[in-house]
Amino acid sequence: MENVVIAGSGPAGLTAAIYTARFKLNPLVLSGLVTGGQLIVSDKVENYPGFPEAVSGMELMDRFRKQAEKFGAHFKSGVVAQVNKQRDFFEVDTGREKIETKALIIATGAEARRLPIPSEPNFYGKGVSGCATCDGAFFRDKEVLVVGGGNTAMQDAVFLTRFASTVTIVHRRDYLRSDPVEVEKAKNNPKIKWLIPWTVEEITGGNTVSGAVLKNSETGETRRIECHGIFVAIGHDPKTEAFKELVETDENGFIQVEAGSTRTSTPGVFACGDVIDPVYKQAAVAVGHGCMAAIDVDHYIQRRK
Ligand SMILES: Cc1cc2nc3c(=O)[nH]c(=O)nc-3n(C[C@H](O)[C@H](O)[C@H](O)COP(=O)(O)OP(=O)(O)OC[C@H]3O[C@@H](n4cnc5c(N)ncnc54)[C@H](O)[C@@H]3O)c2cc1C
Repeated sequence: MENVVIAGSGPAGLTAAIYTARFKLNPLVLSGLVTGGQLIVSDKVENYPGFPEAVSGMELMDRFRKQAEKFGAHFKSGVVAQVNKQRDFFEVDTGREKIETKALIIATGAEARRLPIPSEPNFYGKGVSGCATCDGAFFRDKEVLVVGGGNTAMQDAVFLTRFASTVTIVHRRDYLRSDPVEVEKAKNNPKIKWLIPWTVEEITGGNTVSGAVLKNSETGETRRIECHGIFVAIGHDPKTEAFKELVETDENGFIQVEAGSTRTSTPGVFACGDVIDPVYKQAAVAVGHGCMAAIDVDHYIQRRK
């Protein structure tokens, strides 16, 4: 019987691993398909505290993992497929084995939705981004596109005008889902242009993005546009398929936790990082949540004794 299984090895899961290992809970991390989580695709992280010269996402997450291992966290590659709640423990099913544990921390993240075009993966992290807060500052005096028509797209577009020379909002429908107040702010910003109803059909460039081919959703007309960045703001998918029967989620699939804690609707199950966070989605926030989850688990286990 494990004390605690941590599902996910991004910033939230690895921070929970460092803390629970130091609490002598001997945590087991199921690292998922990608050890290190989302950040490992980022060449340059400039906003993580403690690295004034920037650090690659890969190196940062490698350091997190080494720190967790140093204090005794153990790792298995594997994905949680299902969790069965027993009377006072949980059975975590990876498809290959069933692991019994007193407590579970869910730190499985949320994936930014991607543009469904063949050229997109070649440019992800090389001009295409799902995170304006993370990457906006890399596009000083450049032309960028923001794809989407919701609140995030409007807010990202306004935010990006701090850096970019122009920001063009590209949206496939002729109406916007965003709240009128957010649309108004974008419309009043002289650096923002609009291409509605248009879709991105292709991304062009060499090592980085240099342009895109767009198509008018109504007329079928195509057009080439020059740009250096494409910010995709069409939503996130929290990775909660395996936990839907176990814990309550909101209408978008984010796991709900008690305010000011990481406790879910099921005692003994805790959640942290992007999987509970529809708003901030930053490594530093995920780290804070991971720390909270570890302390919450420790209290839970001590109370069981
Ligand atoms: C390209 C890019 C650049 C970014 N740049 C920055 C930046 O500069 N600064 C910043 O603060 N933030 C940045 N972010 C955001 C940051 O990466 C996330 O906020 C952070 O990684 C969230 O951490 P997390 O641990 O909650 O989730 P994730 O990092 O998503 O980790 C989730 C983990 O869970 C695993 N997993 C998924 N499903 C299962 C399952 N069923 N069972 C077991 N494991 C599972 C995954 O394999 C992964 O290991 C960036 C994101 C991207 C995509």
